[in-house]
Amino acid sequence: MEACRKLEEVLERIEKACQRAGRKKEEVTLLGATKTVPPNVIKRFYECGLKVFGENRVQEFLKKYEDLSGLSIEWHFIGRLQSNKVKYIIDKVKLIHSLDRDSLLEELKKRASRLGIKANVLIEVNVGNEETKGGVKPEDLEAFFEKVLNAKDLEVLGLMCIPPYEEDPEKVRPYFAKMREFKEKLEEKFGVSLPHLSMGMSSDFEVAVEEGATIVRIGTLLFGERG
Ligand SMILES: *Cc1c(COP(=O)(O)O)cnc(C)c1O
Repeated sequence: MEACRKLEEVLERIEKACQRAGRKKEEVTLLGATKTVPPNVIKRFYECGLKVFGENRVQEFLKKYEDLSGLSIEWHFIGRLQSNKVKYIIDKVKLIHSLDRDSLLEELKKRASRLGIKANVLIEVNVGNEETKGGVKPEDLEAFFEKVLNAKDLEVLGLMCIPPYEEDPEKVRPYFAKMREFKEKLEEKFGVSLPHLSMGMSSDFEVAVEEGATIVRIGTLLFGERG
């Protein structure tokens, strides 16, 4: 089956990258980035063994969440999140990858507290300092991290980034390395352990794994070109 073969191929490439870096393949979770991918295709990959999927848009996520409610999918939210939409997803996703500003932090705190749940989050870092992208600026990361750490209704599990696009993945490596340094610096400064670095997409996930990624978010390579 085509889906299973593609999944196997990507998992093998992750395993090889782990070997090169002296890591165990169990340390890396493959997340299927399924924006614009229809539910029946998601289901096919699920049946091949892929269980973690991430969506970018709230509306689209809710539709698929409903359509695929019979499956034990672990859903993540990986896109830019508007504060007024937090309430629709907070109790449906295992991890929100894109916390990057005070207004969103406040809304997450409010909604988690009301439901009596802990919301798992990653802080998105604008590692390339790009105007057009979301994410906390590297120079603001420490202060923002402290606020999130002090929010009792949130559990901060690490960092996420979408680095500048480069055709040559080696050119992205320094950004991934920087992310690992940010994580280690925060761990040391605040005396905490951060289990996750969400980084690496279709074009650069092997380099990301070599640099310490624990979640790679892959779309095109698994599901094909998007319309
Ligand atoms: C689309 C998307 C991905 C996957 O990108 P591909 O290059 O298609 O693998 C990963 N992360 C985020 C946040 C995305 O929006």
